[in-house]
Amino acid sequence: MHEDYWNGCLNLIKKELEDQSYNTWFKPIKPISYSKNILTLKVPNKFFYEWIEEHYLKILNNSAKKVLGNKTIIEYIIKNNPNNDKKNNDNLNLKLNSDIKSLDSNLNCNYNFENFVSGKCNNIAINAGKSISEKPGFTGFNPLMIYGGVGQGKTHLLHAIGNQIKLSNNDNRIAYVSSEKFTSEFISALKNNRLEDFSNHYMNLDTLLVDDVQFLFGKEKTQEIFFHIFNHLNLNKKQIIISSDRSPKDLDGLEKRLVSRFKWGLTVELEKPDFETRKKILKEKISSNKIKLSDEIIDYISFEVNTNIRELEGIIISLIAHSTIEKSDINLELTKKVISRIVKDSNNEINIDYIQNTVANYFKITKEKMKDKIRKKEIVIARQVAMYFSKDFTNHSLKSIGNHFGGRDHSTVIHAVQSVNDMIDTDNIFKNNIQDLKKKFEIKSL
Ligand code: ADP
Ligand code: MG
Repeated sequence: MHEDYWNGCLNLIKKELEDQSYNTWFKPIKPISYSKNILTLKVPNKFFYEWIEEHYLKILNNSAKKVLGNKTIIEYIIKNNPNNDKKNNDNLNLKLNSDIKSLDSNLNCNYNFENFVSGKCNNIAINAGKSISEKPGFTGFNPLMIYGGVGQGKTHLLHAIGNQIKLSNNDNRIAYVSSEKFTSEFISALKNNRLEDFSNHYMNLDTLLVDDVQFLFGKEKTQEIFFHIFNHLNLNKKQIIISSDRSPKDLDGLEKRLVSRFKWGLTVELEKPDFETRKKILKEKISSNKIKLSDEIIDYISFEVNTNIRELEGIIISLIAHSTIEKSDINLELTKKVISRIVKDSNNEINIDYIQNTVANYFKITKEKMKDKIRKKEIVIARQVAMYFSKDFTNHSLKSIGNHFGGRDHSTVIHAVQSVNDMIDTDNIFKNNIQDLKKKFEIKSL
């Protein structure tokens, strides 16, 4: 009987919903009984029932009332209660061999703590990660939220923590997933009616690592299921580690309730590496690539390449490639060439090289003369103008700017900027020249 009642309800519900939603959320429901005005339905899991309550409550209630009368109450039972669920899964895991488990974790064993260089910029994050590895789920760092700019080591650290957890807790069920992959898995689960498998997979983990959560922006349904998985894991004292390219307070494209949970544990920033850390990282990359660089070159690269660690790596790779192709040693000359070509010209930003070329063309001299010791007036002026704009339009320090002009020191750069300002005040033609040039740079930097 209850089956007929339920089929009656389904017929009404079907008219209200799109096929996909109907198939996903209502087809898997099994009617269990109907007595004393209570219709009992069996749903695959807790998430399922919460989703229905949140999205389809009205449709479901209306249909039940139409078929069974106004006093009808709907009750749910969940297919396997969580305890049984876990038991079943443990048995399953015993049957699988550990290789399959490690394959499933998606961890990259090349990213570990041994080759993650520590420094002022990342000490806290590393220490938190290491304590978590010893007692996943049972430290104050749950969830651990790691944030920092691109190329700052978030992905590396996530894998390092995951690998360490696996080392110290062999049976820890662990998975690394980028938020994009999580989203596409969710969508495909929705399409293929496998939502239950999808949520079970994540809800049965002991450790979940989610990379780049900022990509969940605007994906409401994915955020919703992630929220439920998060809650489920958190309630069961499972470890969650997430990364993002910005701090929680700037994650305003995500649902507030989700972001507020990210802050329950520890939030740490991976900062831009300082000079000493950049040097340490460079040395580690050099030795693992088995190449030799002089201290002078290491200093030069660490000084000039100050954006992020990925860019540092890029430089090493290019240097190796260049020295192989050109069959020459890696000397300072080659290093400078590679840095100016690969790093600074890779985007449209204005760099010193560009400024020197533009100013040299404008004053009809050669760029090389700017770097020479020539003291002829028109060359001195062009050189000073180029320094003046380098200070305005790049992030280089005075010392670095001086380096680009034939190794002059920072006081020469300060003097150049002052002279240019003085001339702007006293010489109208010069002032027009400067405005002309300034326009060129402003347009280029748009
Ligand atoms: P993000 O995920 O923050 O964009 P990644 O983790 O992908 O950055 O790091 C970029 C590259 O820099 C990777 O190859 C990584 O191994 C390397 N890297 C980042 N931080 C460090 C570090 N502290 N020590 C050694 N290598 C690092
Ligand atoms: Mg990353």
